[in-house]
Amino acid sequence: MKELSGKTAFVTGGSRGIGHAICIALAESGANIAFNYTAADDKANELVDLLRTKHKVKAEAYKADIADEEAVNEMVAKANKAFGPISILVNNAGINRDKSFLRMTRAMWDEVMGVNLNGPFNVTNALLPGMIENKWGRIINIASMGGQTGNFGQANYTVTKGGLIAFTMTLAREAARKGVTVNAVSPGYTETDMTAGMPEPIRKQVEQMIPMGRMGTPEEIANAVSFLAGDRSSYITGQVLSVNGGMYM
Ligand code: NAP
Repeated sequence: MKELSGKTAFVTGGSRGIGHAICIALAESGANIAFNYTAADDKANELVDLLRTKHKVKAEAYKADIADEEAVNEMVAKANKAFGPISILVNNAGINRDKSFLRMTRAMWDEVMGVNLNGPFNVTNALLPGMIENKWGRIINIASMGGQTGNFGQANYTVTKGGLIAFTMTLAREAARKGVTVNAVSPGYTETDMTAGMPEPIRKQVEQMIPMGRMGTPEEIANAVSFLAGDRSSYITGQVLSVNGGMYM
């Protein structure tokens, strides 16, 4: 029997990038997978097929915006009906709308807060009571190195990621005696659509600043998540596991 057999994981933003790799890694450990997304229908459907046929787990995709509380509650009700209790939550979905602070509009600020902070609030709020009831749960929040260091042009984004780290620590304290651990994985620069638009000279500069000399892969982030999702991490809570090639230590 695999480590997560019989358990169900909910991954936000599973259609692409890091969330996609997390769905596969958790399925490889035997978990059934519910995930959501907002736009990439084809990729979401392909992933559902892959999880069902190759990994032989139950899988469903839900099209819903995590910033919309009502949509999240509806989606979680559907997932609970389809899967039963959900004991692992990965708050992965996130967006960036970068500009130096003086050029950043209120709309850019609010949009990023809505997805990156209100989103995890909405989904955690819907799923944590069930984990507490069953006396076992794992919440893993995908933060970012920028939330630990700040980053030029990302006042909105880094605030949400620093906030997610604080949310992780507070929730870990509140849930610690209820069988639920709460941790963050903090990726450095990772090869996904989010970084694909980076101009080549900047990418070269970034790679030079990373001790390992390269950006990370989504699978390297997903491996950390899958460790925190199982019983091997039973005495770890409130921690930030940095996966960044040594860029921030
Ligand atoms: P990505 O390639 O842009 O993928 C984002 C995923 O989130 C997609 O599946 C997208 O699906 C979904 N999504 C976006 N907005 C959503 C919303 N409102 N509701 C539900 N789903 C939504 O991003 P990524 O690079 O994999 O990033 C994943 C997480 O890692 C984010 O939290 C990001 O901040 C963090 N991170 C990334 C890096 C990096 O270098 N890539 C570094 C540090 C941290 P649809 O397009 O279908 O909506």
